[in-house]
Amino acid sequence: MDREINGNIQLKVPEIKYTKLFINGRFLDSVSGKTFETNDPRTGDVIAAVAEGDKEDVDNAVKAAREAFDHGKWPRTSGHERGRILMKLADLIEQHAEELSMLDAINAGKLLHMTQAFDIPTAAFMLRYFAGWADKVHGQTLKCSGEFQAYTLLEPVGVVGLIIPWNFPTVLFVAKIAPALAAGCSVVVKPAEQTPLSALYCAQLAKQAGVPDGVLNVVTGFGPTAGAAVASHMDVDAVSFTGSTEIGKVVMAAAASSNLKQVSLELGGKSPLGEICLAGSRVYVQEEIYEEFKKKTVEMVKNWVLGDPFDPQVHQGPQVDKRQFEKVLRYIEAGKREGATLINGGKPVGEKGYFIEPTIFADVKEDMLIAKDEIFGPVMSIMKFKTIEEAIEKANNTRYGLAAGIVTKDLNIANMVSRSIRAGTIWINCYMVTEGDAPFGGYKMSGFGKDSGLQAIHKYLNVKSVITPLYGSPW
Ligand code: ADP
Repeated sequence: MDREINGNIQLKVPEIKYTKLFINGRFLDSVSGKTFETNDPRTGDVIAAVAEGDKEDVDNAVKAAREAFDHGKWPRTSGHERGRILMKLADLIEQHAEELSMLDAINAGKLLHMTQAFDIPTAAFMLRYFAGWADKVHGQTLKCSGEFQAYTLLEPVGVVGLIIPWNFPTVLFVAKIAPALAAGCSVVVKPAEQTPLSALYCAQLAKQAGVPDGVLNVVTGFGPTAGAAVASHMDVDAVSFTGSTEIGKVVMAAAASSNLKQVSLELGGKSPLGEICLAGSRVYVQEEIYEEFKKKTVEMVKNWVLGDPFDPQVHQGPQVDKRQFEKVLRYIEAGKREGATLINGGKPVGEKGYFIEPTIFADVKEDMLIAKDEIFGPVMSIMKFKTIEEAIEKANNTRYGLAAGIVTKDLNIANMVSRSIRAGTIWINCYMVTEGDAPFGGYKMSGFGKDSGLQAIHKYLNVKSVITPLYGSPW
């Protein structure tokens, strides 16, 4: 544990090339000239000063996106051509995998070997997946009543605002832009204030790939200023948000009270997992194996190495920033106060940076804060159940419905559980597997609208019915 933290090791810092707003194909300072600091969560030190966009910058970005949509070639070019450019962007992302994975590791504290093995390949995959749909989504011919015939056209919704969080900076940037661009929309992206760097890097690659100026804009800055300006903008036709349930409500209210823009929300989760596995924040374990499971889990995390996410031997890096670090520690205190049994971890590690021990609570009850709220940190709650019916009821006893997992050898139980849990993704005998063509998004207060799969491209397409008489005009 903590062998690498705050020792004398030389921390690797990648070169930071892009720190300005990306509007209409150019990197620009913010109108106010203000910048904000982005930090290295390993140490809390400043990595770079990044342009702080606000309402006027969002106005400029939306103007560019509007012009590109209303008069530019992107929505008017063939789906095939858009797909070709998105394929090229996928190639460029792969060619720059090292820089991008380092930017996510240094900005979000993500493990470098994970960003290399998962995040960057997933981003490239997503682009190719949606590039493939660009010339294959189309309307239908309708039969109508006999006097008339009709067909539907699928048309891009227009200018789309995309607001994203810090946990998968490159993946979410790409997963949001790919279906919107494939559909022919132009976009204004507001990356998380904690992790602006890889989005700016990808924006430059998109230009290189041939995405026309104005079609993809990135405004870095804070949520209540830049983010709110996107959500409430009168000239933005749709907003797709990933983040907390709390801010999801704010975004939806802003969308409703401005121009009724279309909204899709991918929000928090409190995903239950039955029986055995480390991932998942609520783990329900059958009574007979409860004690054994606890023992094995603790043994397993004893070998868990906390440290520099650039070190391939490390299992767990730091929390993304001070606010998140303090929030996780507050939840750990709440767990102790409410009477859960702390069986591993529970403390911060090191003098600098935002490291927290892998923390495991047993004897967790449904009404405890650690069982109800999304913590977004290395805190796991273990709970006991007797019957499958009880496990299902407890698993569903949450306001969230993002995902759930079941571990079983019994096919009937797997079938029953996967149909009974109200969540957008169910993993059977696996966990955290995401696939480009598997729609991803929540039930209940985890939001609505899907971020991958064919459904994602339909979020960015309006359906138009065109009706015409079959045998001449009736009038
Ligand atoms: P997290 O708790 O995971 O950081 P948030 O929901 O706070 O999630 O943030 C997700 C994204 O939403 C970030 O890009 C953030 O800047 C943005 N955001 C925060 N507040 C607002 C707001 N009032 N309006 C629009 N976007 C916001």
